[in-house]
Amino acid sequence: MRIVLHGVRGSTPAPGADFLRVGGSTSCLGVAPMGSAAPTLLLDAGTGLSSVSRSLAGAPFVGDILLTHLHWDHVQGLPFFRAGDRDDAAVRLMLPAQCEASPDRPGSAAELLGRSMSPPHFPIGPDGLRGDWTFDAIAEGSFVAGGCTVTAVEVPHKGGRTFGYRVEADGASLAYLPDHHPAIDPGPGLELARDVDALCHGAMFADSERAIAHAYGHATLGETHRLAQEAGVGRLVLIHHAPSRTDDEIDALARQIPADDPPVSVGREGDVVLG
Ligand SMILES: [Zn+2]
Ligand SMILES: [Zn+2]
Repeated sequence: MRIVLHGVRGSTPAPGADFLRVGGSTSCLGVAPMGSAAPTLLLDAGTGLSSVSRSLAGAPFVGDILLTHLHWDHVQGLPFFRAGDRDDAAVRLMLPAQCEASPDRPGSAAELLGRSMSPPHFPIGPDGLRGDWTFDAIAEGSFVAGGCTVTAVEVPHKGGRTFGYRVEADGASLAYLPDHHPAIDPGPGLELARDVDALCHGAMFADSERAIAHAYGHATLGETHRLAQEAGVGRLVLIHHAPSRTDDEIDALARQIPADDPPVSVGREGDVVLG
């Protein structure tokens, strides 16, 4: 399978000359199992979706989208997803059931998305996207999406129920944990990332920013490194970079952990993580 980083920024897009090497688009990964030239599975729908549309070169998106959670940086690209907002697109979008009002009334996936994507916040709601779209609020567990085996596990974060995802296909495996607060409970993230070939993990905060990292429901870089080591991952790819951190500052941050135990890289827009 081939996995491409389309958006590696957290919180809000980061335009400008100081952010070009790493890239300024928010969270989005594209997965193409062997035999598929185009991605059939997208992880998160931040503004990196624009780059997915460009990579499809005029073709519609046909496949599945898995959202880790509903924070803006993970859904902001949806209303502007050119390859998905057209009559010949076919998309199944899945997000964690929220169960917030009561376990019996979790709210439908389209309703949950519509809280931020509907008038007066935006001209259309999710049901206004052209093409064949379905919206599912999902539970933890394993299932097939986009031709890959996916395992969804609830992980600690802040402000809504959040899933991490493990994706397996063609003998390769990836764990995706952009927004994760392992200091609360490292167990679910460890279980998800155990022995994967590549772990893409949020790296917004230095260890010196521990207080604010934990207040926002994230890991520090040292906590991320520890998780990668304990899970025995093949390599660690740092993503979900702070929007204020320049390219040089992100490289300097990455140097605060050992570069080779496991191998660590700064995830940049356009990087091929696997494949
Ligand atoms: Zn985020
Ligand atoms: Zn978040």
